[in-house]
Formats: sequence, structure tokens, C-alpha cells
Amino acid sequence: MRKKIVAANWKMNKTLQEGEALVKSILSGSTNSEDITKIIFPPSLFIPDFVSLVKENASFSVGAQNCYHTEVGAFTGEISASAIASCGAKYVIIGHSERREYFKETPQQLLTKIQLALIHGLTPVFCVGEKLPDRKSNHYFSAVKQQLSDVVFLLPEEMFSKLILAYEPVWAIGTGETATPEQAQEMHAFIRFAIEEKYNKDVAKQISVLYGGSCNAKNAKELFACADVDGGLIGGASLVAEDFLQIVNSF
Ligand code: PEP
Repeated sequence: MRKKIVAANWKMNKTLQEGEALVKSILSGSTNSEDITKIIFPPSLFIPDFVSLVKENASFSVGAQNCYHTEVGAFTGEISASAIASCGAKYVIIGHSERREYFKETPQQLLTKIQLALIHGLTPVFCVGEKLPDRKSNHYFSAVKQQLSDVVFLLPEEMFSKLILAYEPVWAIGTGETATPEQAQEMHAFIRFAIEEKYNKDVAKQISVLYGGSCNAKNAKELFACADVDGGLIGGASLVAEDFLQIVNSF
């Protein structure tokens, strides 16, 4: 059985006080979803505080939105995988399209980040997704396959099988435009098939692949009903407790 996961990517939103209030509302409104892993990815400064807020709730965890691609050293302002893990976070997002686009992160850097995250016991949530021109020109399968081949398919099976993947079509992130369930399912099935080709059927079957891109309380149910969609990586809609909880209740 693959893990069902709903992850909240808060990006650069909320103060500590606003964030604490949001986490408390989510915790108090959360019912009957013990089998669904909920991960909050707040700004990294809040991690220690949120780890203690969720510690009594086994199905909740905290993660970082990024880590640096070097173990340690003179990189002012950056945060290492070991520092993140030492604060009690369990997950880290790697390769989000905003980081690829605005911070020009390269496949080699992403691979190193994943290796460091795994060394320090963090589970990477690795994001892939085509841009609009690739969707429009019907090159979306090859674009996503390339992102997998350039980074995570370079990992040995025992490392790869520890990952969570997120399919996030760039044209759907923060735009209010969502992939249809058919578009999501065909890409998730494609990703699973690519994993089977590269590794084997067992690995392909056990990897959770999340959908992200304007997933919200209204469309989560039909997206999560797709056979190869194991949950969501949620941006905007994760900033409102009721919406996030409704998404969690959409399986
Ligand atoms: C994201 O940035 O990971 C995301 C899915 O954002 P949104 O839900 O706002 O499209």
C-alpha cells in the first residue's frame, strides 16, 4: 500500500504567530485521517516550533522547502540538510519549479541536495513538471522524463525508493488552472511506468506520487480518486485551515 500524503507548501507566507495559529486550527480540526500523512512545509525558521506543536500527532510532520547543496561551510544565509534534520524536520522539498526558475538550481545541485537529505535522514519530495510550451506542443512526457533522468534516475534503487515525487505542471502552479484528473492520471501513470522501466515494478508500485498545481478543496476529490495520484502538494489552499482539512478529507 502506498502512503497517502497531503503536504502544505506555505512558501514565503505567514509570520510565526500567524503560522502557529494556522497549525493549531489544522490540528484541532483534523479528524479520522490517521492513515494520511500530513506534512507542513513552513518557512524554515518555524520548524523547531512547529515540530513541538505537532509532536503528539503521529500523522503530522514538518519539512523544509529547500536545503543547500553543500554539507557545511561559508554559504551565508543558506541552510544545510543536517541543520534541518537536527531541528526535527522529516522531509525536504527539492526541485520545486520556483527554485529551478528563480534560483537557477541545476540538476547536479538537485542531485546533491537529495543525496545530502537522504544521508541526514530526511525524505526528499522531488518535484517535476512541464512548462506551458511543453504542454501546448505535446512534449510534456519527454520534459518530465528528462527531469527524472537528469536527477533522481541517477540514484541507486535503495536511495530512489526512499523518495516521494510530486508532479507539478508549472502552468498550474498558483494560476488557478488545474490539470484535469485525466491529465494528472496520464502523467502519474507515465511517471510510474518510467520508474518501472528504470528500476522495477516493486519500486514503481510503492513510490508515492503527489499532484500539485492549484489543487484545492473543490477539485481534490476528483484528483485523489485517480489510481496513480497518492495525494497532493498544496500551495495557496494550504494557507487556510478549513481548505487544507477539506483536502485531507478528499480521499
Ligand atoms: C506549489 O507551489 O507547490 C503549489 C502546488 O502551489 P499552488 O497549489 O498554489 O498552485
